Amino acid sequence: MPILNALRLALIVLTITLISNVSAEQYALVADGVIDGKSNDLLKGKAVIVTGSKITAIVDVNRIPKDAMKVNLPGTTLMPGMINAHEHPLLYKNDYQNAHLQGSSAYKALLGLSNLQRLLQAGWTTIRVMGDGDVYYANQDIRKTIDAGIFIGPRLTGAAHYISITGGGGDVNYFSPEQNVVADGLIADGPDEIRKAIRKEIKYGSDWIKIMVTGAFMSVGDNPRNVSFSPEELSAAIEEASRQNIPVAAHAHATAGINQAVIAGARSIEHGSYLDEESIALMVEHQTYYVPTIYVGDYYANSGKLLAQSKNDDFYLSFRDDWLVMIGKAHKAGVKIAVGSDLCGYAVESHVCAREFATLVEAGLSPMDAIKAGTSVGAELLQWDDRIGSIEVNKLADIIAVPGNPLLDVSALEKPVFVMKNGQIIINTLENYSAINN
Ligand SMILES: [Zn+2]
Repeated sequence: MPILNALRLALIVLTITLISNVSAEQYALVADGVIDGKSNDLLKGKAVIVTGSKITAIVDVNRIPKDAMKVNLPGTTLMPGMINAHEHPLLYKNDYQNAHLQGSSAYKALLGLSNLQRLLQAGWTTIRVMGDGDVYYANQDIRKTIDAGIFIGPRLTGAAHYISITGGGGDVNYFSPEQNVVADGLIADGPDEIRKAIRKEIKYGSDWIKIMVTGAFMSVGDNPRNVSFSPEELSAAIEEASRQNIPVAAHAHATAGINQAVIAGARSIEHGSYLDEESIALMVEHQTYYVPTIYVGDYYANSGKLLAQSKNDDFYLSFRDDWLVMIGKAHKAGVKIAVGSDLCGYAVESHVCAREFATLVEAGLSPMDAIKAGTSVGAELLQWDDRIGSIEVNKLADIIAVPGNPLLDVSALEKPVFVMKNGQIIINTLENYSAINN
């Protein structure tokens, strides 16, 4: 009965795995300081008490409950787990469009899961997926397996696909007309097709809709300075999603595209490279969130790694500094800015994602405001601020420890030494512990 034996063996392995993942009932996390993600102060002399999956108290270090297992993290600062509001975890090569055409959905799922586990170990406890180059719905399947506790991974939300017009930033625009390929994005033209695409996204699990309102920098053969969607298509998209209580994230570079998407009711603007004063005023008025994704352009500048390298270089050389000034202005005016890296598919080392914080500081955010952008503000954008994004009593215990004081050196966020998600310790490099074997 080889099948029965195999089943028995699987059961034994599963049991051992479950036993080894058992967490202490209560932890007391003790570091040099605590950044709670909300206040502007670095708290000293405090221990964070975690019971089960939740934060249950923040106490003086001399008042730690007797039964709690103490986790000493000297030389570090505790902060909420980082929230990456713009990522494509299944993109597995720098030339992502060719990779899309070569890899099956299953292959992308396997690499994607591994990639997501590395991102979790790097401190990203929550990720909003902004579509992936995948014909099917692998990111939603990964999400289901993580939510069910089958695999360890970050908390996921987001869109299965980015929706694009024919010839837009989500289409494959470099094949001959004779070739029929399924593009990396979901292609839809006209209000009816767009509505249908949105209904399908929602049917298969997307809790965000991602639309490519303008052309993109990384794709071949389209122009980020042009608006792709007609006014009718844009309002149909947002009306359809809103009616189903699903928020819309609008990829937009061209100024007109940004402004039209804000007015139409997008919850977030992604990139917003050519935002102007009017865009800022509109985002303040409509309380639109802004996810600029700055560092990805720096990473690829002059790298020779992109199919559309010249578009990225052109932007980087001609516009990057002016854009950062505008991001600083937007922050000052009260636009809520969230961290999104838009970079960390399988091809890129996970720690690189956190360089987005340093670019936000370069744009004029204080280190504390940059940290909030990647924690509490990100949680608000996701409408999950009742659960995550801060170290507060009753929040889920998504907590990381970074070396030193990140307010003095924000690059500390690139190298967390301790990561906890949902009360489970994922890594503790001070004790050489990892819950994930990859
Ligand atoms: Zn993106």
